[in-house]
Amino acid sequence: MEYYEHVVDLVGNTPLVKLNALTEGLQPLVLAKVEYLNPGGSVKDRIALRMVEAAEAAGLLKPGGTIVEPTSGNTGVGLAMVAQRKGYQCVFVCPDKVSEDKRNVLKAYGARVVVCPTAVPPEHPDSYYSVSDRLVKEIDGAWKPNQYANPENPASHYHSTGPEIWRQTDGRITHFVAGVGTGGTISGTGRYLKEVSDGKVAVVGADPEGSVYSGGTGRPYLVEGVGEDFWPETYDRGVADEIIAVSDAESFDITRRLALEEGLLVGGSCGMAVAAALRLAQRLGPDDVVVVLLPDGGRGYLGKVFNDQWMSSFGFLSPDSSGATVGDVL
Ligand code: PMP
Repeated sequence: MEYYEHVVDLVGNTPLVKLNALTEGLQPLVLAKVEYLNPGGSVKDRIALRMVEAAEAAGLLKPGGTIVEPTSGNTGVGLAMVAQRKGYQCVFVCPDKVSEDKRNVLKAYGARVVVCPTAVPPEHPDSYYSVSDRLVKEIDGAWKPNQYANPENPASHYHSTGPEIWRQTDGRITHFVAGVGTGGTISGTGRYLKEVSDGKVAVVGADPEGSVYSGGTGRPYLVEGVGEDFWPETYDRGVADEIIAVSDAESFDITRRLALEEGLLVGGSCGMAVAAALRLAQRLGPDDVVVVLLPDGGRGYLGKVFNDQWMSSFGFLSPDSSGATVGDVL
């Protein structure tokens, strides 16, 4: 018999898939690391598992304890799944702009979701930052992973994502590309790949135009999960050799092309990372091997990047932008 003891045992060891249509005319091999194949559907399963296990080992999280985190997205799903396995409660605090579908995903795993107003500054007592801090103090046995400052976030990538990519490419990877949110992925994976290759692997960050990593001020953008208006502790400024800024329009165009032309239904930050990888690949040769990490799947964005009306409302869809639109019967 071949089976896993629990779904959490499926975290990591995601495959590399070659990009074909999008790389036409380019010389390097471009491989996508497909993180939506993690059991919770995103790269964040990796950090959830490691942060929880480290907290257990440090005595911060005890049997029957409660995980409290301000998150509405992928990290929440990963934490909720790991908590279910290990018998912890979860309380997630999210702003009211978060869609009901996303809240329902967290509730489906048994988590409690506390909704806070978006239209208040972070220091306001009702802001989702303040509420999560208050809940940690009020709930007996509560622990807050704090993915933006927890060293186990980059460490999870140093110990899993990095070694997997090195092994899967037989040490032939020359460039690693990833979007930057908390910075955990690029810092941990990038550091491992640099160490193991004696500095030969180049690390390239992809960032939404307007975010701090590419020199912006935090001006708003629409791609989710990446870019910041502050510098998180989990981002190691010594790792990336280059940061490539990508517009929302290009990110979304490539996201749709990944589904249409490669069969990869993925989120907007994946299109952003692939846009950066393609720009990089234009300058590289036939011996180069580029690995680009795709953080999550596209099903959470059906009302946005895959919705023609939503795209048009921001001026992203022009009739000749990708040849076909999602609504077309082909
Ligand atoms: N894309 C998505 C969809 C994400 O949820 C995240 C995590 N915030 C990232 C990219 C960026 O990963 P990291 O936080 O490791 O920089």
